[in-house]
Amino acid sequence: MTVERYLSASPKDIKKVALVCKKCGAVMGYRPTEWKHVPTKCPNCPIPDGEMHSAGADYASLDGLRETLSKAVKNDNPLFEIRF
Ligand SMILES: [Zn+2]
Repeated sequence: MTVERYLSASPKDIKKVALVCKKCGAVMGYRPTEWKHVPTKCPNCPIPDGEMHSAGADYASLDGLRETLSKAVKNDNPLFEIRF
């Protein structure tokens, strides 16, 4: 028998999203309603080593997450919950 546990959350339950630099461990936290842009570099690492992503898929994915989360948090009647 396999037992699985999930953490369920409404979008409004998400109070902060943390992006962590894989190189130095610096954490950049954003409230979904106030997250206006995806950082292009780590504030702690020197350029160019501090680049957190290339101009490719990572940036587009994070920006999509930012935009979707921002809209979902503002919705008073979401049609979904998030499970982890
Ligand atoms: Zn860093």
